[in-house]
Amino acid sequence: MKDILTIAAADLVPDAQSILAAQGVLPGGNLRAEIVAGAETARELFVELAEPKAIMKEVSARDFDSVYRGNGRNSQPALLDFILPRASHLALAAATVGGTVSRRITELFEGGDYVLGAMLDAAASGGADRASQMLEQLFYGRLTATHEIEPIDEVYCYSPGYCGWHISAQRQLFDHLRPEVIGLTLRESFLMEPLKSISGALIAGPATIHQFDDTFPFCAECRTRSCRARMGRAEKRN
Ligand code: SF4
Repeated sequence: MKDILTIAAADLVPDAQSILAAQGVLPGGNLRAEIVAGAETARELFVELAEPKAIMKEVSARDFDSVYRGNGRNSQPALLDFILPRASHLALAAATVGGTVSRRITELFEGGDYVLGAMLDAAASGGADRASQMLEQLFYGRLTATHEIEPIDEVYCYSPGYCGWHISAQRQLFDHLRPEVIGLTLRESFLMEPLKSISGALIAGPATIHQFDDTFPFCAECRTRSCRARMGRAEKRN
């Protein structure tokens, strides 16, 4: 069964501090008034323009295996090779903040308003990330409500293109999930359209399966190290 969700933009809009942090602004720094105002304007624009939608479908380990393997281009090993054998439940998921906000970002840059363009770009990326977290919470809430996992267990979203899972597996993910119903399509490059979207696998299991060292060969290329930030959440549950 698939869940198709319409989400209020106001529930996804990042705070001004997060938008500024995405521009490399450190907390407490002295900022020009127009920079701070730009972050607030970007928040208002995001709430006005974003049309967030999401889709989620629980899958068996067997069905997920073909999605994960894609065209056989994953790193050997990839991170999920260690996580999947200990996972208890899996779902495919995708979410988008819609095309209107992306078009506005393009217009702002083309019109020379680089400050607001960059702020709205950060707000839209942050909004897509928050949609991913919302899907994690939805799957977690559903599985705990039906006692299929323990409250101390965790659900995290892992995406093609990261941690050794080759981005070309987006094709198999899209073939299985069919997120076109929420307006999400896949380009030849495997990037999503609209760009401010997320896709991946929601993986449920003991919190410890989501804890790992960032010493894989592909970690050397990783600019975000996003696993470190969210790992704190799993550690707090132990
Ligand atoms: S450092 Fe980056 S590539 Fe390595 S596991 Fe963490 S998020 Fe993945």
